Amino acid sequence: MNHASRTASRALAAPLGLLTLLALSACGTSTAATRAAGPVPSEVTVAPPSASPSPSGTGSPAASPAPSSTAPSASTTTGAKPLAGKTVVIDPGHNPGNFSHATEINQQVDVGNGHKECDTTGTETDAGYTEAAYTLDVSHRIRDLLQSLGATVILTQDGNRAWGPCVDERAAIGNTAHADAAISVHGDGGPASGSGFHVIMPAKVVAGKADTSAIVDPSHRLGLLVRDSFHTATGEPYADYVADQGLDTRSDLGGLNLSTVPKVFIECGNMRNSGDAARMTDPQWRQRAAQGIADAFTGFLTTTG
Ligand SMILES: [Zn+2]
Repeated sequence: MNHASRTASRALAAPLGLLTLLALSACGTSTAATRAAGPVPSEVTVAPPSASPSPSGTGSPAASPAPSSTAPSASTTTGAKPLAGKTVVIDPGHNPGNFSHATEINQQVDVGNGHKECDTTGTETDAGYTEAAYTLDVSHRIRDLLQSLGATVILTQDGNRAWGPCVDERAAIGNTAHADAAISVHGDGGPASGSGFHVIMPAKVVAGKADTSAIVDPSHRLGLLVRDSFHTATGEPYADYVADQGLDTRSDLGGLNLSTVPKVFIECGNMRNSGDAARMTDPQWRQRAAQGIADAFTGFLTTTG
């Protein structure tokens, strides 16, 4: 998550000079602007996600059935999988194609208490490993783990569309699926001197299309579980440049403001920091990251507050 100054500094070093500063911002830039005129492009208007194992078409949320193989189960005595009947939506932050669709992702969308750009490019490491590639990889790993426990998992995008979805659609996918819980996976673009991870939970926002009243408490419970499990699984320290004890609460993110299901964001590390970048580039570390997040969801979905 970056502020304007950080956005500007990164923009100067970014490889794609044709993009605007707005397009180069990461997840959290707060921009007051009016909504762009005109209809939402047809590419964004996709069929509502389905929890059924029907194949997803281009541009549709990527629902996948639970594997029918004999995956490990925590309930070995009965064979029942602990997450059977549960639906989880995983939102891989950004999209690799956003870099070449600046006009589309700079459209303003309603985030409940204001308007912001549809999406951003996300950040990247000095070596060019993009946040979008990172988030999709980790999301796949989380999906596989949760499916093995019986959950139905829906991705908001699976590399199956040219850009986006916009942040409001990312929230809507979780809502339409009536997900039991959702997470948006990110890597931060903070100052190079800063390291560590943090979890972002929804603030209470009642404005326009947004009403987070019903999700603030369960999202907080989910956030604590994600913070603790991710920390345990990866050893990654709490962020030392943002948030407090690895936790933040924000009211400017459409993906949270517009969610009607328990949801958090995780910034798994700071991709602009050399140490975090090295870890996030390591597939074995990413598997531990996914395990930590999956453990948190399993805890959330099998216990009560
Ligand atoms: Zn991001």
